[in-house]
Amino acid sequence: MNFEYPAEAEAFRNELRAFLAAELPTWWTNLWVNDDRVIPFTLEFCQKMAAKGWLAMAWPKEYGGSDADIWHQNVVREEMWGRGEPRGPQFMNLNYIGPAIMMFGTDAQKERYIKPMVAGEVIWCQGFSEPDAGSDLASLRTRADDTGAGFKINGQKIWTSYAAQAQYCFLMARTDPNAPKHKGISVFLVDMRTLGITVRPIQSMGGPIEFHEVFFDDAEVPYDTLLGPLNQGWRVAMSALEGERAGVGFAGLYGLQLEKLSQFARESQDISGEPLSHRADVRSKLVRLRALNRALRLLMYKVVANQAGGDSVLVDSAIYKTLAGDMSMQIAHLAMDVAGPRGFCLENDPMVTLGDGAFRWWTHALPVQIAVGSSEIQRNIIAQRGLGLPRR
Ligand SMILES: Cc1cc2nc3c(=O)[nH]c(=O)nc-3n(C[C@H](O)[C@H](O)[C@H](O)COP(=O)(O)OP(=O)(O)OC[C@H]3O[C@@H](n4cnc5c(N)ncnc54)[C@H](O)[C@@H]3O)c2cc1C
Repeated sequence: MNFEYPAEAEAFRNELRAFLAAELPTWWTNLWVNDDRVIPFTLEFCQKMAAKGWLAMAWPKEYGGSDADIWHQNVVREEMWGRGEPRGPQFMNLNYIGPAIMMFGTDAQKERYIKPMVAGEVIWCQGFSEPDAGSDLASLRTRADDTGAGFKINGQKIWTSYAAQAQYCFLMARTDPNAPKHKGISVFLVDMRTLGITVRPIQSMGGPIEFHEVFFDDAEVPYDTLLGPLNQGWRVAMSALEGERAGVGFAGLYGLQLEKLSQFARESQDISGEPLSHRADVRSKLVRLRALNRALRLLMYKVVANQAGGDSVLVDSAIYKTLAGDMSMQIAHLAMDVAGPRGFCLENDPMVTLGDGAFRWWTHALPVQIAVGSSEIQRNIIAQRGLGLPRR
């Protein structure tokens, strides 16, 4: 078993790093900061990646991809997350929305939706969570009723990331209210310009693009927006969510944060004048986190390989997500500990430390426990499906 990348993939990594060094502006830190330049920049960046054939590189040629092997695609994932995800919201297209459309879509849907993704021209959002349906997603109440001419959608979504920027929504709605709750759900590919859709941004510590409410009031969509079979949206959505959990390159992000923390420890002293790099507590935490990040990276490789082989990654991606959630908090706490008062500075203040600042790491770490299925839910999956423990 060889855990090293093929030489061509490493050569590609170097090429990609040179591209990133040339393309990322000096103001860029990550996708989630409060800066109006972020979304326009990510669109421009994706189109440049697309022009090089790097955006959807592992997708089949018939869909406009480059048919590259999964390890090249994984290099992209690691490097993008290591640089604060300059693909912006479009990382979701590549991780799971595009693959779900390729797997469940009609030829016409593939033709219509995949090409703009490959070209880096389109932002999608995910309309799953509702005020009373988060972890228990199958309780969702947004309705899509057959009118004889299409579907009429009524209801509300919440916590929808990038909804105000998105052209399309990957939406779950109830199509058979009389069926058992997992069985009466369908997935729709909804144009966000549809009459009857209202988006309200939610102000949060995750920045202005992180959360929105999306209201559907008699929003009428044609039949050809249905993805996969009617009432079988649970299967479509679950396959998408597996891709979503595994698709985030946490190890790349944490690798970069640990590099910055180690450099900070080498160059800074604590209040008593002792170099941080001499302090046993700082050293042992850094070493432990470095080891955990190595484990996280290797687990990601396993998930990627299994996914490519068509095997279920349900349990491994749950372990990956849980470990990533735990690590995000540990790294953020260490950053706040070592940065002292400067840890509270925001990214636009000259006193800020560690790039975008320890405080930002911390505010970004908290949601990792919740987004894409909370850590508790992932632990339930590991307990029941991985260890065979009974459901409680
Ligand atoms: C940064 C971020 C981005 C997001 N983006 C999107 C998006 O784009 N689209 C979208 O649809 N949603 C999005 N969400 C919403 C996210 O999917 C939900 O927040 C998540 O599924 C949890 O649902 P909830 O908030 O309703 O919490 P609840 O389900 O109410 O859970 C509250 C708490 O109870 C715990 N809990 C619940 N059930 C159990 C159980 N059975 N066993 C043990 N503990 C349990 C949970 O772990 C959690 O700690 C996003 C969330 C975050 C944080």
